[in-house]
Formats: sequence, C-alpha cells, structure tokens
Amino acid sequence: MADKKNNRKNNRNNDEDYNPRFRKTRKKVCPLCADKNLKLDYKNAEQLKKFINDKGKILPRRATGACAIHQRDITLAVKRARQIAVLPYTQE
Ligand SMILES: [Zn+2]
Repeated sequence: MADKKNNRKNNRNNDEDYNPRFRKTRKKVCPLCADKNLKLDYKNAEQLKKFINDKGKILPRRATGACAIHQRDITLAVKRARQIAVLPYTQE
C-alpha cells in the first residue's frame, strides 16, 4: 500500500499536467475472455496467484481486468483453493 502512495506522489511531481480525473487508462481485456483455452483450475496455484495480492487477498476487477462473469469464477476458484490449502487465506 505504501509503495502505491509513493508512486502516485512521484508521478504528480514529475508530470505537471497530472490529473487523476483525466488519467489515460488503457482498457483492460478480461484474461479469461481473451484466451478461450485458458481454464481456471482451483488446484493450480501458479495460475491463481495472478489473481491474489501479496497478502493473499483476491484482487478487484479493476486490477485483474476480468469481466463480471469471469471475476466470479476467479473468486470461486481462489476460495476453493484456500479450502484445500493450495492458496493461503492470509500472508504476514
Ligand atoms: Zn471474461
């Protein structure tokens, strides 16, 4: 969290025109829609690690870029993975 704040501060200092309301954002494409062959597997920790942060929390849609349908699938898969101890509930 602290890192994020610092980055934002640095950006503001470097770029005089910085305005968070009109920040240029590239439209994220849902990783599961983009690759039809990609199948979520709750036993595959490496795959699911992309959707959790370093604390083990599930990332929001704005971070994963997933569509509503697939974000639900991701959430379900991560929760199942936690249940069978493939992923941690918390870290540090
Ligand atoms: Zn999708």
